[in-house]
Amino acid sequence: MQKAVQYTPPSSSEPNEAGTVSLCELPVPTKPRRGHALVSISHAGVCGTDLHVLSGRGTGSLITGQEPRVLGHEASGHVIQLADDEDESAKQSIKIGELMVLQPVGQCGSCRQCRDGRYNQCDEYFSSFIGLNVNGTWQSVLEVPLDRIHPVDRYSGGQSPPADWAALAEPLSCVLNGLNRLGHLPGTSRALVAGAGIIGLLACIALRRRGVARVTVSEPNAQRRRLVEGLGRAISGLTACSPEEVAKLKPFDVVVECSGSPAAGSLACEVAGNSGRILLLGIGNVDSQLTLEPLAAFFKELTVLSACASRYTLPEAIGLLGELSCIDGLSLELLGIKKLPIEEFSKGLQLMRDGQASKVLLQPQRA
Ligand SMILES: [Zn+2]
Ligand SMILES: [Zn+2]
Repeated sequence: MQKAVQYTPPSSSEPNEAGTVSLCELPVPTKPRRGHALVSISHAGVCGTDLHVLSGRGTGSLITGQEPRVLGHEASGHVIQLADDEDESAKQSIKIGELMVLQPVGQCGSCRQCRDGRYNQCDEYFSSFIGLNVNGTWQSVLEVPLDRIHPVDRYSGGQSPPADWAALAEPLSCVLNGLNRLGHLPGTSRALVAGAGIIGLLACIALRRRGVARVTVSEPNAQRRRLVEGLGRAISGLTACSPEEVAKLKPFDVVVECSGSPAAGSLACEVAGNSGRILLLGIGNVDSQLTLEPLAAFFKELTVLSACASRYTLPEAIGLLGELSCIDGLSLELLGIKKLPIEEFSKGLQLMRDGQASKVLLQPQRA
């Protein structure tokens, strides 16, 4: 048997209805079906989406069905078994023992959105979402479809991230997809990231690595601002300020909204400069509203963009994590990330709700 964190949706489908979550014992899968592999989960991230699911709000509304399922859609792990009758080509491309990261979402491959390359807009993208609508990564061993497995060595250009860093590939791929929506960003762009949770911190790093020389981060919480300052010592070019101070530093060519706060829309319109671009990466609750200022948008010809999860950016995320894991002075601790054995998942959820951890990585193999 293996320990797993299982979520049971509420019996009513009313929004804001919360389900239950508990640690349970489940059988360890032993024989993968053809087209699947067994993966030993090394590090499994807790995401804001999981907190939304548990509160019955926000992206938690993506949950379908009422049967219990194991949570967790972010993970690194090692391939431990393929089906006995697996295709030779699959056996050649996926090696037993290799480190992989999980692509949690699916696609039909044939609808108009898929054919146009926007598979994150496919109706099937979330319906088979691992960790929301099928069993997820908060357990020791998971059966994963082969097309959701991304071997780390294949994408990391010689410098592979270790398993803990690799577990950030999925959230980083969402950030990179968002930045792609912004189009070309000259190195001289004045960039503001609003909110210094893990998505904001990853956005800072990604902007800097893509050549934007200076990134300002606005964050109301002093403890989180200190995280930005610490990160700035490792990768340079970052300035932390409070939302009250940010108006003095305007205008910004790009505002990356990562806070999910209802007040963030007005602030973004106020501090964006002429022809500014605003990217909405923060995910609000199902009933939250964002206020934009149409007059500011009119005069400044603002462009407001959103981004849904990721498409095609997981390989770049893996490569970037390989580079980051080698930077002197940069560590997961510096990003406010905490690691816990899976038995302590409740503590992990609380650390994230209290803002004491930017992200928690559960380690199902750790005793
Ligand atoms: Zn996530
Ligand atoms: Zn499709």
